[in-house]
Amino acid sequence: MSNVLIVAEHGGGAIRKSTFHALAAGQEIARRTGGKVHVALLGKGVSALGADLAAYGVDVHVADAPVLEHPIAEALAPVIADLAKALGASHVGAAATAQGKDLLPRVAARLGAGMATEVLGFGGDGGGVTFRRPMWAGNVLAEVEIATPVKVFTVRTTEFAPAQKAAAPGAVHPVPVTVDASSLRTRHAGFREVKSERPELTEARIVVAGGRGTKGDFKAIEALADALGAAVGASRAAVDAGWVPNDWQVGQTGKVVAPELYVAAGISGAIQHLAGMKGSKVIVAVNKDPDAPIFQIADYGLVADLFQALPALAAKVKAS
Ligand code: FAD
Repeated sequence: MSNVLIVAEHGGGAIRKSTFHALAAGQEIARRTGGKVHVALLGKGVSALGADLAAYGVDVHVADAPVLEHPIAEALAPVIADLAKALGASHVGAAATAQGKDLLPRVAARLGAGMATEVLGFGGDGGGVTFRRPMWAGNVLAEVEIATPVKVFTVRTTEFAPAQKAAAPGAVHPVPVTVDASSLRTRHAGFREVKSERPELTEARIVVAGGRGTKGDFKAIEALADALGAAVGASRAAVDAGWVPNDWQVGQTGKVVAPELYVAAGISGAIQHLAGMKGSKVIVAVNKDPDAPIFQIADYGLVADLFQALPALAAKVKAS
């Protein structure tokens, strides 16, 4: 029997959605190994959130202390590693968010554990779990076996449906925190949240994205996004040109999204862009060039000038 420890993420007084996708991944490992899922919840003043997680039928271990107020990996990692040891956890995982990517490698180092990042699914039989993960911008899927007794992983949230609430809640346990704030070499300098009326890119049901074809004019992209209640994304070419903010970038070195509808306008469809959006349920491409590679993966393709097609689409959406 092996325990699976999933690290929860929270913000604004609530558990982040990504946690429930990571939880589902943990539950799949537990099913394969016959183990039990535990959740680590760390922060300051987070005890009340323990019950929200326990509702999913998992045991929640809450480390609530002032030193854990900010998501500083240096402070959080020893608490998680000690908890993993105390539970005899065979697997420790989290969502592959900015925080998960920062924190879990430190946890792995402390546990002397091998790690698989951006995991898309699991394989293996006979109780051993292998990790399926993308390589070369998602053009190759590797089946990775981790040889160390403890295995650490981050999961791509778009690949796992969120966990469902259970009939019977799990227990909530307090975790002692012995981290000495004065020993930390990392200091929290501030947090500047980007406030937007639009949905968060990685959580949006619809994304409208623009590329170099916009020539820096995103008005048509943003107007269609607003008509659809969508988030706005961009190719790296648009971001590198300084036309739009960094956090709009979709792709291998940007965000990975899998909305129900992805509209790519003036984007050629380079493999590095596809790596971040090809899991979308329906892909619509608008491009002047009929030979643009994006049409090879699009469900609907429109060979058109985006400056004419997008306002026409937005007008139809508004009229409907
Ligand atoms: P282009 O390739 O220049 O395409 C512009 C398209 O717009 C063309 O197809 C053109 O026909 C069309 N067009 C022009 N005018 C119009 C119009 N009026 N109406 C309609 N269509 C029009 N890229 C990413 O996007 N995300 C990443 O995360 C990423 N990571 C990378 C990592 C590495 C290591 C490397 C090497 C590259 C990465 N790239 C990434 C860059 C990627 O290779 C491409 O250069 C980039 O995606 C191209 O952006 P684009 O499609 O907007 O521009």
